[in-house]
Amino acid sequence: MLWKAQDVLGGLTHKKLPIIFVITPTYARFVQKAELTRIANTFRQVPAIHWIVVEDSINKTKLVSNFLKTCGMEYTHLCVKTSAEVTMSKGALQRNLGLSWLRNKFLPGEAPSAVVYFADDDNTYSLELFEEMRYTKKVSVWPVAFVGGQLYESVKVNAEGKFDGWDVKYAVERPFAIDMAGFAINLNLILENSKAIFHIDAESGFLEASLLIDLVSLKDLEPKADNCTKILVWHTKTTIQKIYSKLDELHLEV
Ligand code: UDP
Ligand code: MN
Repeated sequence: MLWKAQDVLGGLTHKKLPIIFVITPTYARFVQKAELTRIANTFRQVPAIHWIVVEDSINKTKLVSNFLKTCGMEYTHLCVKTSAEVTMSKGALQRNLGLSWLRNKFLPGEAPSAVVYFADDDNTYSLELFEEMRYTKKVSVWPVAFVGGQLYESVKVNAEGKFDGWDVKYAVERPFAIDMAGFAINLNLILENSKAIFHIDAESGFLEASLLIDLVSLKDLEPKADNCTKILVWHTKTTIQKIYSKLDELHLEV
């Protein structure tokens, strides 16, 4: 079913706010429910947000289905299994399915004013981040902490507040030297460029660029977070203690 602008979010709430479509790939492991709980606790506090959760699985799992039913957010639940040949680019097929869902839902020109953000399930997101990205015209960018072997990767911004190069150490030749968590895209740009997707064969570190190169030129990037001087998102990784219990002894869903 195709959605018109007024159908989104029941057509009732947040009429004036651009919607934020957050696409999250996720896969089954011990910390999955903890990660989803943690990020939902953030996302739930953001107005006019629609969460597209894409499981890396053949079928939707009970755990994620039940979690989403009670998460208190407007969401769409999808799944696609990453085939065994895809060793890098984890999450790429899932993000592409999120993009197809949006392209099937909305016609260019008839979509609500909205922005698309790719939020991995293990990162840490501040609430300010979402208000920074909400009014993205094409593609907005900001620093990301704990990535590329640095405390943060950022964007150089000139006196006019425009993009002036990448402040990175890892793979400096990347045309878009930015982590998945460091940019958001206007929905219309995604709808108008219907072929732009993440390339699952992209080299390590080049996945983001494989999409962005077909959407925007560097001069049009919109630096946010006070001209990229503030960290509003952290590329965290969750580790847990070593588990000694035998799995078949467990009775609780973790
Ligand atoms: N992911 C996935 N399938 C996998 C591995 C990862 O769907 O086999 C998801 C994961 O849940 C996360 C995103 O893809 O939302 C990026 O994965 P990860 O955080 O492990 O990547 P990294 O932070 O190391 O780049
Ligand atoms: Mn991660």
